[in-house]
Amino acid sequence: MSDERVTAPALSTDDARFETQLRPPGFAEFVGQDSLKSNLGVFIEAARKRAEPLDHCLFSGPPGLGKTTLAHIIAHEMGSDLVATSGPVIERAYDLTGILTNLKRGDVLFIDEIHRLSHVVEEYLYPAMEGFSVDILLDKGPSARSVKLNLEHFTLVGATTRAGLLTSPLRSRFGMSLRLNYYNPDELAQIVKRSARILGVSIDDEGAVELARRSRGTPRIANRLLRRVRDFADVIGDGRVTAEIAHESLLRLEVDARGLDDMDRRIMEAVIHRFDGGPVGVKSLAVAVGEEADTIEEIYEPFLIQEGFLKRTSRGREATKAAYEYFGLAGSDGEQGRLL
Ligand code: ADP
Repeated sequence: MSDERVTAPALSTDDARFETQLRPPGFAEFVGQDSLKSNLGVFIEAARKRAEPLDHCLFSGPPGLGKTTLAHIIAHEMGSDLVATSGPVIERAYDLTGILTNLKRGDVLFIDEIHRLSHVVEEYLYPAMEGFSVDILLDKGPSARSVKLNLEHFTLVGATTRAGLLTSPLRSRFGMSLRLNYYNPDELAQIVKRSARILGVSIDDEGAVELARRSRGTPRIANRLLRRVRDFADVIGDGRVTAEIAHESLLRLEVDARGLDDMDRRIMEAVIHRFDGGPVGVKSLAVAVGEEADTIEEIYEPFLIQEGFLKRTSRGREATKAAYEYFGLAGSDGEQGRLL
Protein backbone atom coordinates (compact mmCIF):
# COMPACT_ATOMS: atom_id res chain seq x y z
CA MET A 1 0.00 0.00 0.00
CA SER A 2 1.44 3.35 -0.90
CA ASP A 3 1.85 5.93 1.76
CA GLU A 4 0.99 9.42 0.73
CA ARG A 5 2.83 12.56 1.72
CA VAL A 6 0.78 15.50 0.74
CA THR A 7 2.61 18.75 0.36
CA ALA A 8 -0.35 20.71 -0.87
CA PRO A 9 -3.78 20.84 0.65
CA ALA A 10 -6.15 19.58 -2.02
CA LEU A 11 -9.87 19.95 -1.33
CA SER A 12 -10.13 20.95 2.30
CA THR A 13 -13.77 20.23 3.05
CA ASP A 14 -16.01 17.28 3.51
CA ASP A 15 -15.68 16.68 -0.21
CA ALA A 16 -12.01 15.81 0.15
CA ARG A 17 -12.82 13.20 2.79
CA PHE A 18 -15.43 11.57 0.59
CA GLU A 19 -13.20 11.70 -2.46
CA THR A 20 -10.48 9.82 -0.62
CA GLN A 21 -12.97 7.30 0.64
CA LEU A 22 -14.47 6.74 -2.81
CA ARG A 23 -11.24 6.73 -4.80
CA PRO A 24 -10.67 3.37 -6.49
CA PRO A 25 -7.35 2.00 -5.18
CA GLY A 26 -6.40 0.01 -8.30
CA PHE A 27 -7.25 -0.52 -11.95
CA ALA A 28 -9.72 -3.27 -11.10
CA GLU A 29 -12.15 -0.77 -9.58
CA PHE A 30 -11.40 2.10 -11.92
CA VAL A 31 -14.38 2.15 -14.26
CA GLY A 32 -14.17 3.17 -17.95
CA GLN A 33 -11.38 4.93 -19.90
CA ASP A 34 -10.67 1.47 -21.30
CA SER A 35 -8.01 2.18 -23.89
CA LEU A 36 -6.15 4.56 -21.57
CA LYS A 37 -6.29 1.94 -18.82
CA SER A 38 -5.04 -0.87 -21.01
CA ASN A 39 -2.16 1.19 -22.44
CA LEU A 40 -1.14 2.43 -19.04
CA GLY A 41 -1.38 -1.12 -17.71
CA VAL A 42 1.11 -2.28 -20.35
CA PHE A 43 3.56 0.54 -19.57
CA ILE A 44 3.38 -0.20 -15.85
CA GLU A 45 3.85 -3.92 -16.40
CA ALA A 46 6.86 -3.29 -18.67
CA ALA A 47 8.46 -0.90 -16.18
CA ARG A 48 7.90 -3.39 -13.37
CA LYS A 49 9.47 -6.22 -15.41
CA ARG A 50 12.55 -4.12 -16.06
CA ALA A 51 12.55 -3.01 -12.41
CA GLU A 52 12.63 0.58 -13.62
CA PRO A 53 10.55 3.58 -12.58
CA LEU A 54 7.68 4.38 -14.93
CA ASP A 55 8.21 7.09 -17.55
CA HIS A 56 6.79 10.56 -16.83
CA CYS A 57 3.12 10.71 -17.58
CA LEU A 58 0.72 13.56 -18.37
CA PHE A 59 -3.05 13.31 -17.86
CA SER A 60 -5.34 15.87 -19.38
CA GLY A 61 -9.09 16.37 -19.31
CA PRO A 62 -11.84 18.26 -17.51
CA PRO A 63 -11.94 18.26 -13.69
CA GLY A 64 -13.33 15.26 -11.82
CA LEU A 65 -12.62 12.61 -14.46
CA GLY A 66 -9.98 10.68 -12.51
CA LYS A 67 -6.56 12.24 -13.13
CA THR A 68 -5.60 12.34 -9.44
CA THR A 69 -7.05 8.87 -8.96
CA LEU A 70 -4.85 7.52 -11.76
CA ALA A 71 -1.75 9.07 -10.18
CA HIS A 72 -2.58 7.20 -6.96
CA ILE A 73 -3.21 4.01 -8.90
CA ILE A 74 0.18 4.30 -10.64
CA ALA A 75 1.91 4.63 -7.27
CA HIS A 76 -0.09 1.71 -5.92
CA GLU A 77 0.61 -0.54 -8.91
CA MET A 78 4.31 0.36 -8.91
CA GLY A 79 4.47 -0.27 -5.16
CA SER A 80 5.80 3.23 -4.58
CA ASP A 81 4.93 6.32 -2.59
CA LEU A 82 3.09 9.34 -3.93
CA VAL A 83 3.99 12.93 -3.20
CA ALA A 84 1.23 15.31 -4.26
CA THR A 85 1.49 19.01 -4.95
CA SER A 86 0.11 21.45 -7.47
CA GLY A 87 1.33 24.05 -9.93
CA PRO A 88 0.19 27.19 -8.09
CA VAL A 89 1.58 25.94 -4.76
CA ILE A 90 5.16 25.70 -6.02
CA GLU A 91 5.97 29.37 -6.05
CA ARG A 92 9.73 29.32 -6.19
CA ALA A 93 12.31 26.95 -7.65
CA TYR A 94 13.50 26.53 -4.07
CA ASP A 95 10.14 24.94 -3.12
CA LEU A 96 10.60 22.42 -5.89
CA THR A 97 14.17 21.58 -4.86
CA GLY A 98 12.92 20.60 -1.44
CA ILE A 99 10.36 18.25 -2.91
CA LEU A 100 12.65 16.75 -5.56
CA THR A 101 15.59 16.07 -3.28
CA ASN A 102 13.35 14.16 -0.88
CA LEU A 103 12.08 11.74 -3.51
CA LYS A 104 13.14 8.12 -3.33
CA ARG A 105 13.75 5.93 -6.38
CA GLY A 106 10.45 5.12 -8.09
CA ASP A 107 8.40 7.66 -6.12
CA VAL A 108 5.53 9.28 -7.96
CA LEU A 109 5.55 13.08 -7.88
CA PHE A 110 2.07 14.24 -8.74
CA ILE A 111 1.74 17.85 -9.88
CA ASP A 112 -1.89 18.85 -10.32
CA GLU A 113 -2.70 21.88 -12.49
CA ILE A 114 0.76 21.61 -13.98
CA HIS A 115 -0.11 24.27 -16.60
CA ARG A 116 -0.04 26.80 -13.75
CA LEU A 117 3.64 26.35 -12.87
CA SER A 118 5.59 29.58 -13.20
CA HIS A 119 8.12 29.75 -16.05
CA VAL A 120 11.07 29.79 -13.66
CA VAL A 121 9.88 26.71 -11.82
CA GLU A 122 9.02 24.99 -15.07
CA GLU A 123 12.51 25.51 -16.48
CA TYR A 124 13.95 24.22 -13.27
CA LEU A 125 11.91 21.08 -13.70
CA TYR A 126 13.33 20.24 -17.16
CA PRO A 127 16.74 18.84 -16.06
CA ALA A 128 15.03 17.05 -13.19
CA MET A 129 12.69 15.28 -15.62
CA GLU A 130 15.34 14.61 -18.24
CA GLY A 131 18.57 13.90 -16.45
CA PHE A 132 17.39 13.54 -12.84
CA SER A 133 19.50 16.39 -11.58
CA VAL A 134 19.00 19.97 -10.43
CA ASP A 135 21.35 22.93 -10.21
CA ILE A 136 21.39 24.58 -6.84
CA LEU A 137 22.62 28.12 -6.55
CA LEU A 138 25.00 28.67 -3.65
CA ASP A 139 25.66 32.16 -2.34
CA LYS A 140 24.63 35.42 -3.95
CA GLY A 141 26.35 38.15 -5.94
CA PRO A 142 29.85 37.73 -7.35
CA SER A 143 30.62 34.63 -5.31
CA ALA A 144 27.50 32.87 -6.53
CA ARG A 145 28.10 29.42 -7.96
CA SER A 146 25.92 26.49 -8.66
CA VAL A 147 26.28 22.84 -7.85
CA LYS A 148 24.64 19.97 -9.60
CA LEU A 149 22.67 17.69 -7.36
CA ASN A 150 21.71 14.23 -8.53
CA LEU A 151 18.18 13.05 -7.87
CA GLU A 152 16.72 9.58 -7.57
CA HIS A 153 14.85 8.35 -10.63
CA PHE A 154 11.27 9.35 -9.99
CA THR A 155 8.09 9.42 -12.06
CA LEU A 156 6.45 12.75 -12.64
CA VAL A 157 2.71 12.53 -13.13
CA GLY A 158 1.27 15.83 -14.32
CA ALA A 159 -2.42 16.62 -14.52
CA THR A 160 -3.98 19.45 -16.45
CA THR A 161 -7.45 20.64 -17.33
CA ARG A 162 -5.96 22.83 -20.05
CA ALA A 163 -3.53 20.80 -22.15
CA GLY A 164 -3.42 23.65 -24.66
CA LEU A 165 -1.79 25.94 -22.10
CA LEU A 166 1.17 23.63 -21.55
CA THR A 167 4.38 24.85 -23.14
CA SER A 168 5.79 22.52 -25.77
CA PRO A 169 9.16 22.02 -23.97
CA LEU A 170 7.27 20.73 -20.93
CA ARG A 171 4.88 18.60 -22.94
CA SER A 172 7.72 17.00 -24.87
CA ARG A 173 9.39 15.83 -21.68
CA PHE A 174 6.54 13.49 -20.83
CA GLY A 175 6.96 9.95 -22.15
CA MET A 176 3.18 9.48 -22.21
CA SER A 177 0.38 11.93 -22.70
CA LEU A 178 -3.04 10.50 -21.99
CA ARG A 179 -6.39 12.21 -22.34
CA LEU A 180 -9.41 11.37 -20.21
CA ASN A 181 -12.85 11.58 -21.77
CA TYR A 182 -16.29 12.08 -20.28
CA TYR A 183 -17.88 8.84 -19.04
CA ASN A 184 -20.97 7.32 -20.58
CA PRO A 185 -24.12 6.77 -18.45
CA ASP A 186 -23.45 3.02 -18.07
CA GLU A 187 -20.02 3.64 -16.65
CA LEU A 188 -21.31 6.37 -14.36
CA ALA A 189 -24.09 4.09 -13.12
CA GLN A 190 -21.43 1.53 -12.15
CA ILE A 191 -19.49 4.25 -10.34
CA VAL A 192 -22.64 5.41 -8.53
CA LYS A 193 -23.44 1.87 -7.42
CA ARG A 194 -19.93 1.29 -6.17
CA SER A 195 -19.97 4.57 -4.24
CA ALA A 196 -23.41 3.76 -2.80
CA ARG A 197 -22.03 0.43 -1.56
CA ILE A 198 -19.10 2.13 0.14
CA LEU A 199 -21.27 4.84 1.70
CA GLY A 200 -23.98 2.37 2.72
CA VAL A 201 -26.63 4.07 0.59
CA SER A 202 -29.48 1.96 -0.68
CA ILE A 203 -30.05 2.63 -4.38
CA ASP A 204 -31.85 0.66 -7.08
CA ASP A 205 -30.68 0.27 -10.69
CA GLU A 206 -33.09 2.90 -12.03
CA GLY A 207 -32.00 5.38 -9.37
CA ALA A 208 -28.35 4.84 -10.33
CA VAL A 209 -29.16 5.29 -14.03
CA GLU A 210 -31.07 8.51 -13.36
CA LEU A 211 -28.12 9.93 -11.41
CA ALA A 212 -25.67 8.74 -14.04
CA ARG A 213 -27.57 10.43 -16.87
CA ARG A 214 -27.50 13.74 -15.06
CA SER A 215 -23.90 13.85 -13.87
CA ARG A 216 -22.29 15.65 -16.82
CA GLY A 217 -20.24 12.57 -17.68
CA THR A 218 -18.18 13.21 -14.53
CA PRO A 219 -17.56 10.76 -11.64
CA ARG A 220 -16.93 13.57 -9.15
CA ILE A 221 -20.34 15.07 -9.94
CA ALA A 222 -22.01 11.64 -9.82
CA ASN A 223 -20.57 11.06 -6.35
CA ARG A 224 -21.56 14.52 -5.18
CA LEU A 225 -25.12 14.15 -6.46
CA LEU A 226 -25.36 10.74 -4.82
CA ARG A 227 -24.63 12.32 -1.45
CA ARG A 228 -27.18 15.07 -1.98
CA VAL A 229 -29.84 12.71 -3.29
CA ARG A 230 -29.27 10.45 -0.29
CA ASP A 231 -30.27 13.38 1.93
CA PHE A 232 -33.52 13.79 0.01
CA ALA A 233 -34.15 10.04 0.14
CA ASP A 234 -33.80 10.14 3.92
CA VAL A 235 -36.11 13.11 4.32
CA ILE A 236 -38.75 12.85 1.60
CA GLY A 237 -38.58 9.09 1.00
CA ASP A 238 -37.83 5.94 2.95
CA GLY A 239 -34.05 6.24 2.58
CA ARG A 240 -33.90 4.31 -0.68
CA VAL A 241 -32.72 6.12 -3.81
CA THR A 242 -35.15 5.27 -6.60
CA ALA A 243 -35.53 6.89 -10.02
CA GLU A 244 -38.41 9.02 -8.67
CA ILE A 245 -36.46 10.20 -5.66
CA ALA A 246 -33.44 10.93 -7.85
CA HIS A 247 -35.59 12.83 -10.33
CA GLU A 248 -37.38 14.85 -7.65
CA SER A 249 -34.13 15.71 -5.82
CA LEU A 250 -32.26 16.71 -8.96
CA LEU A 251 -35.16 18.92 -9.96
CA ARG A 252 -34.86 20.66 -6.62
CA LEU A 253 -31.10 20.94 -7.10
CA GLU A 254 -31.78 22.55 -10.48
CA VAL A 255 -29.99 19.84 -12.41
CA ASP A 256 -31.99 19.18 -15.56
CA ALA A 257 -32.62 15.96 -17.48
CA ARG A 258 -29.37 16.28 -19.44
CA GLY A 259 -27.34 17.18 -16.35
CA LEU A 260 -27.15 20.88 -17.17
CA ASP A 261 -27.09 23.15 -14.15
CA ASP A 262 -27.93 26.77 -13.61
CA MET A 263 -24.62 28.12 -14.95
CA ASP A 264 -24.81 25.95 -18.09
CA ARG A 265 -28.23 27.40 -18.78
CA ARG A 266 -27.08 30.94 -18.13
CA ILE A 267 -24.21 30.51 -20.54
CA MET A 268 -26.42 29.11 -23.28
CA GLU A 269 -29.09 31.75 -22.72
CA ALA A 270 -26.46 34.47 -22.96
CA VAL A 271 -25.05 33.10 -26.21
CA ILE A 272 -28.51 32.70 -27.70
CA HIS A 273 -30.17 35.90 -26.46
CA ARG A 274 -27.57 38.49 -25.71
CA PHE A 275 -25.22 37.58 -28.50
CA ASP A 276 -27.77 36.40 -31.06
CA GLY A 277 -26.36 32.88 -31.12
CA GLY A 278 -22.76 34.07 -31.37
CA PRO A 279 -19.99 34.11 -32.30
CA VAL A 280 -18.98 35.56 -28.96
CA GLY A 281 -15.58 35.66 -27.26
CA VAL A 282 -15.19 33.90 -23.93
CA LYS A 283 -14.36 37.16 -22.14
CA SER A 284 -17.61 38.85 -23.17
CA LEU A 285 -19.49 35.70 -22.28
CA ALA A 286 -17.83 35.62 -18.86
CA VAL A 287 -18.91 39.19 -18.15
CA ALA A 288 -22.46 38.44 -19.29
CA VAL A 289 -22.87 35.49 -16.91
CA GLY A 290 -20.70 36.79 -14.06
CA GLU A 291 -18.22 33.92 -14.08
CA GLU A 292 -14.44 33.75 -14.61
CA ALA A 293 -13.43 33.17 -18.23
CA ASP A 294 -11.05 30.41 -17.06
CA THR A 295 -13.83 28.58 -15.24
CA ILE A 296 -16.03 28.74 -18.30
CA GLU A 297 -13.27 27.34 -20.48
CA GLU A 298 -12.25 24.66 -18.01
CA ILE A 299 -15.52 23.43 -16.59
CA TYR A 300 -18.60 24.49 -18.53
CA GLU A 301 -17.59 24.82 -22.13
CA PRO A 302 -16.09 21.33 -22.66
CA PHE A 303 -19.33 19.67 -21.57
CA LEU A 304 -21.55 22.01 -23.59
CA ILE A 305 -19.38 21.29 -26.63
CA GLN A 306 -19.46 17.56 -26.02
CA GLU A 307 -23.27 17.68 -25.71
CA GLY A 308 -23.43 19.49 -29.04
CA PHE A 309 -24.90 22.75 -27.72
CA LEU A 310 -21.93 24.97 -28.28
CA LYS A 311 -19.26 25.09 -30.94
CA ARG A 312 -15.95 26.79 -30.97
CA THR A 313 -15.01 28.59 -34.12
CA SER A 314 -12.10 30.88 -34.90
CA ARG A 315 -14.46 33.83 -34.34
CA GLY A 316 -15.74 32.67 -30.95
CA ARG A 317 -18.44 30.50 -29.42
CA GLU A 318 -21.65 29.80 -31.30
CA ALA A 319 -24.90 28.14 -30.28
CA THR A 320 -25.83 25.10 -32.36
CA LYS A 321 -29.20 24.13 -33.77
CA ALA A 322 -29.44 21.53 -30.99
CA ALA A 323 -29.07 24.31 -28.42
CA TYR A 324 -31.98 26.25 -29.91
CA GLU A 325 -34.06 23.10 -29.93
CA TYR A 326 -33.18 22.04 -26.41
CA PHE A 327 -33.78 25.44 -24.92
CA GLY A 328 -37.14 25.63 -26.64
CA LEU A 329 -36.25 28.20 -29.23
CA ALA A 330 -36.86 28.25 -32.93
CA GLY A 331 -33.79 27.90 -35.16
CA SER A 332 -31.21 30.62 -35.53
CA ASP A 333 -32.54 31.47 -38.99
CA GLY A 334 -34.27 34.63 -37.88
CA GLU A 335 -37.46 33.22 -36.40
CA GLN A 336 -37.46 34.23 -32.76
CA GLY A 337 -38.45 31.56 -30.29
CA ARG A 338 -39.12 31.54 -26.60
CA LEU A 339 -36.83 30.19 -23.91
CA LEU A 340 -38.58 27.75 -21.63
P1 ADP B 1 -9.44 14.82 -11.27
O1 ADP B 1 -8.09 14.68 -10.63
O2 ADP B 1 -9.45 14.49 -12.72
O3 ADP B 1 -10.09 16.15 -10.99
P2 ADP B 1 -10.21 12.76 -9.37
O4 ADP B 1 -9.22 11.70 -9.69
O5 ADP B 1 -9.95 13.58 -8.14
O6 ADP B 1 -10.43 13.73 -10.62
O7 ADP B 1 -11.64 12.05 -9.29
C1 ADP B 1 -12.72 12.60 -8.57
C2 ADP B 1 -13.49 11.50 -7.86
O8 ADP B 1 -14.20 10.75 -8.83
C3 ADP B 1 -12.60 10.52 -7.11
O9 ADP B 1 -12.73 10.69 -5.75
C4 ADP B 1 -13.12 9.15 -7.45
O10 ADP B 1 -13.88 8.67 -6.38
C5 ADP B 1 -14.06 9.36 -8.59
N1 ADP B 1 -13.58 8.72 -9.83
C6 ADP B 1 -12.90 9.33 -10.82
N2 ADP B 1 -12.68 8.47 -11.84
C7 ADP B 1 -13.24 7.30 -11.48
C8 ADP B 1 -13.37 6.03 -12.13
N3 ADP B 1 -12.90 5.83 -13.36
N4 ADP B 1 -13.99 5.03 -11.47
C9 ADP B 1 -14.50 5.26 -10.24
N5 ADP B 1 -14.44 6.44 -9.59
C10 ADP B 1 -13.81 7.44 -10.19
